[in-house]
Amino acid sequence: MANVDMIGIRKAFGASVALDDFTLNIASGELVCLLGPSGCGKTTALRILAGFEKADRGEVRVEGRDLANEPPEKRLFGMVFQDYSLFPNMTARQNIDFGLKVQKKSATERTSIIDRMIEVTALQEHADKFPHQMSGGQKQRVALARAIATSPRVLLLDEPLSALDAKVRETLRDEIRRLQLEIGVTTVFVTHDQHEALAIADRVGVMSNGRLEQLAPPRELYENPANAFVAGFIGTVNRLAAIGRSDGRWDILGRTVPGNRPAHEFITDVAAIRPEQLAIDPVTDGGASVVSVSFLGPITRVIIEDVQYGRVFADIISADASGLAPGQSVRVRLRDDVGEIVLIGEGE
Ligand code: ATP
Repeated sequence: MANVDMIGIRKAFGASVALDDFTLNIASGELVCLLGPSGCGKTTALRILAGFEKADRGEVRVEGRDLANEPPEKRLFGMVFQDYSLFPNMTARQNIDFGLKVQKKSATERTSIIDRMIEVTALQEHADKFPHQMSGGQKQRVALARAIATSPRVLLLDEPLSALDAKVRETLRDEIRRLQLEIGVTTVFVTHDQHEALAIADRVGVMSNGRLEQLAPPRELYENPANAFVAGFIGTVNRLAAIGRSDGRWDILGRTVPGNRPAHEFITDVAAIRPEQLAIDPVTDGGASVVSVSFLGPITRVIIEDVQYGRVFADIISADASGLAPGQSVRVRLRDDVGEIVLIGEGE
């Protein structure tokens, strides 16, 4: 277990800046997901951490010690990649054994570790198979077992589930988290899948254009996004105008509520309102009409055209949405249980 610090990292490839003043502090035993759109610099951050790439500027520290002169193999990190990267001519057992041999562990110790790894990754029936005889999910279990067998100081996972189908992804995602908590290894998990990140991370780092936009626990990221990019990237969000009052509160969607920053009279800002924070009343003069109604199981997504706010997305508990139909005249309002709104605009 080790704490990891990336401090003021810059990395450019020619004219393309992959990381720009990138700082990330990870506590010992924590699982941090780096999340962001394609090309935002996630993999570059991971490769610099692993030592495969050298930063132009900045420092990487593990337990406070600068790793500048430590080659990848000396860092004692475990790595799992999207494409498994198993040795094709070795069985699952031999793949797991590889790093243990490099560490010059005794035969008895190696057997005991391999048996335990096979057990925790549920590979008992596949231990003597070669990679081409295994499914994608099984191969990724072997890669995971191989990575953690050596008791790495830090575990780095680069899109480890991207090549797998949805069901296997979900199961393996939960298994990775269970194992990570069990062995307590500090972990960085790169993904572009927000559901994956929100489901397993202690904290999620949202990146864009080589910068860390926000690093926060999943719930905080969702409920209190730091800016418009994070609000728009995580889940669905309505960007709706809020009008300031002299008492510091905001007028929005028929209610007067406090915000995450105080209002001034007559200023307008943009509030990030989640679809589930809205209610719909079927009235004849509500200034809005239903565009579409999509049943999604427990909730129903309703798209509304509002004369004041424009196109609005609302998620209604399906039991309450059965009477809604396209073309119907409605009023959209902020639900009564919304105590505070999040402002993400610049203010005017
Ligand atoms: P993805 O989700 O698509 O894998 P990413 O967030 O992991 O994207 P990176 O692979 O870190 O992004 O790339 C960040 C930027 O740096 C991109 O613009 C990419 O084109 C560029 N880049 C990365 N590696 C190299 C390289 N070896 N040579 C030139 N440019 C590179």
